[in-house]
Amino acid sequence: MNPKAAAPRKVIPIAAQPADGELVSLYASHQKIYPRSAPGFFNNWRWAMVWLTQIIFYGLPWLEWGARQAVLFDLGARRFYIFGLVLYPQDFIYLTGLMVISALSLFLFTAVAGRLWCGYACPQTVYTEIFLWIENKVEGNRSARMRRDAQPWGLEKVGRKSLKHLLWLLLALWTGFSFVGYFTPIKELGVEVIQMSMGSWEIFWTFFYGFATYGNAGFMREQVCKHMCPYARFQSAMFDKDTLIVTYDTERGEPRGARSRSADPKALNLGACVDCSLCVQVCPTGIDIRKGLQYECIGCGACVDVCDTVMDKLGYARGLVKYSTDNAMKNHWSQAQTLRHVLRPRVLVYTTILSSIVLAVLISLTLRTPFKVDVVRDRGVTARLVAGGKIENVYRLQLMNATEKPQRYRITVSGLPGLQISSETVLAVESTQARWVPVRVQAPFDAAAPGSHKIHFEIDALDSSGHLREKSVFLLPSNN
Ligand code: SF4
Ligand code: SF4
Repeated sequence: MNPKAAAPRKVIPIAAQPADGELVSLYASHQKIYPRSAPGFFNNWRWAMVWLTQIIFYGLPWLEWGARQAVLFDLGARRFYIFGLVLYPQDFIYLTGLMVISALSLFLFTAVAGRLWCGYACPQTVYTEIFLWIENKVEGNRSARMRRDAQPWGLEKVGRKSLKHLLWLLLALWTGFSFVGYFTPIKELGVEVIQMSMGSWEIFWTFFYGFATYGNAGFMREQVCKHMCPYARFQSAMFDKDTLIVTYDTERGEPRGARSRSADPKALNLGACVDCSLCVQVCPTGIDIRKGLQYECIGCGACVDVCDTVMDKLGYARGLVKYSTDNAMKNHWSQAQTLRHVLRPRVLVYTTILSSIVLAVLISLTLRTPFKVDVVRDRGVTARLVAGGKIENVYRLQLMNATEKPQRYRITVSGLPGLQISSETVLAVESTQARWVPVRVQAPFDAAAPGSHKIHFEIDALDSSGHLREKSVFLLPSNN
């Protein structure tokens, strides 16, 4: 018998050619996703992160530190208060350090376990989770929501939808209010809201942030992750074959198919997947993890939880869908072997660099001088001859007190023979305040050759420790 003749024929479906002149739309309308809730281990972790991040976000602006708000970014006064720290724009280096730490942490977490940030801590995920919870409470579970959306509008539908949107809006506006509370003292802002006397910027940002939350978490949802977030696009560059990702065990699961609980899958020539599609129904981005890793997957683990529940019900081993690595799946590694490979050189390098930068920032913050000084030569006043045959230059010093107590500072000057300050040398600055002071510096006219000479201002804190040295120039005019 000819084996070729016996082989089943493959039929490749080919779409009919559109008629000449017929318009073919490449646009696919968005299908609304109704994610089913899936209790389980990773769901608990996600909710733990929702609580943790939101207790911090909503609670932090209400915390007091002495007589002020513990965390306040006062852009008007150009001062940032973070618990005991008072930072000035000159402390920008710490913000840079924070950004580098955040970026490196993202690289590290992604190299270890893919989109951990996306699945558990990203504001988009967190607010979508909260908004979905409200939707679930008001409109019912997935099937009830789908049924209601398919029904024509009626009193019950209008009532439930209105209540849902009202709750969403209240939460979104509270989120906007809390956000603005990081930049304006939140208690004063609360009073302004009650008296309806908020400033225009405060109104703008409360509503802008509020509506962004309402739109992104209520309507856009997975669209933000799929089409707007740049991180989804470049994450694959940080993955390798030892990165933990949510994976479907094809070898174990296929061929998939429905069966009764008591049936023996081997006898039916079936794998462990019962093709219940629950992993698709719980997916917030609506993908089927059984088709392999897709860029839409945010690594939330919902499909792992629900599939484990299905496996439990059938009495099969858990882990048909699980966090695993490409290499572990290919080589059939145990969990311990997989984890050993996750701790690879790349991860250790990221960890070392990250720890070093965190340590450097902490040491620098601990050792930083608790005041700042800016020296500007007063260009409005030229070098002039004063009594006693001395040449005088005038400077403007900005003294910034970064402590919570009033401070006195002594200023001295060096760099030329006979150079001295002829104005006040001890200056007081109130707690967390900055002060501009004119400082007159004199030198004998023959202290050096005419021209520009480098000098130094030495500033000592008298009520605390700290010494700063700032350079400037002293001009000696020519005799003629
Ligand atoms: S939840 Fe598990 S058993 Fe059900 S379809 Fe998905 S992979 Fe298969
Ligand atoms: S495939 Fe699984 S892990 Fe990925 S987004 Fe969907 S439910 Fe979450």
